[in-house]
Amino acid sequence: MRASLSTHLARKLGRFIPTQPRPVRWPGGVVSFTFDDFPKTALTVGGAILEKYGVHGTYYTAVNLAETDGNLGRMFDRADVEAAHAKGHEIACHTFRHLDCGRNHTSRLLADVDENAAAIRCLTGGYTPTNFAFPFGGISFSAKGALSQRFASCRGIGDGVNAGTADFADLKAVRVHQYADAAGSYRRIVDEARERNGWLIFYTHDVADEPSMFGCTAAQLETIVAYAVRTCPVLPVRDVIEGLESPAPSIF
Ligand SMILES: [Zn+2]
Repeated sequence: MRASLSTHLARKLGRFIPTQPRPVRWPGGVVSFTFDDFPKTALTVGGAILEKYGVHGTYYTAVNLAETDGNLGRMFDRADVEAAHAKGHEIACHTFRHLDCGRNHTSRLLADVDENAAAIRCLTGGYTPTNFAFPFGGISFSAKGALSQRFASCRGIGDGVNAGTADFADLKAVRVHQYADAAGSYRRIVDEARERNGWLIFYTHDVADEPSMFGCTAAQLETIVAYAVRTCPVLPVRDVIEGLESPAPSIF
């Protein structure tokens, strides 16, 4: 009883207390498309849509899921990671075993994340992932604190645009899924990012004609990508972080 209450409190605190508050100001807004877990179709279908529009996405990869079949369909293999990396998509970090960070001790999480980062370095010829997403969106105050020391950003699943001051230990993201409302709601949130000079991060999983409940169709994704590309820059998380850290150009 006591353990479950403390777990509950840790998750609540993790969600509501920012540990890495930082300003986000991107004039005219910026959008990122991210894929969690890396089902094969996230690259073969989702990645192909992004590439068609000349932009790239971020793949939060849990290496222990490689070459498995599950509710997201067939998962990535070595060639997929190599191809995504070579094409300019960002290979980012999840936990290796898809551990829920709200339900595991921080020391176990850090060891698991280190194992994942090492495996990604091996798959990419030495690239060290610099951004992380919480599997299941599960967080705790201590996990946020520890993981935000390891990564430039940690992304959660709290809905909305990152604008004004955002918690880089739990960045907000908007889910794209097959049961979502009409495309109009996605257009409105892209518009909101533009108007608030903010950063909108979309996330989904598989991209297929008959997607899982966690994924979306190619038509859905393409509608959103096409609108976002017309509206503002579309960049991987890595590139947005880099852009936010760059000093504004001097007018003198
Ligand atoms: Zn995941």
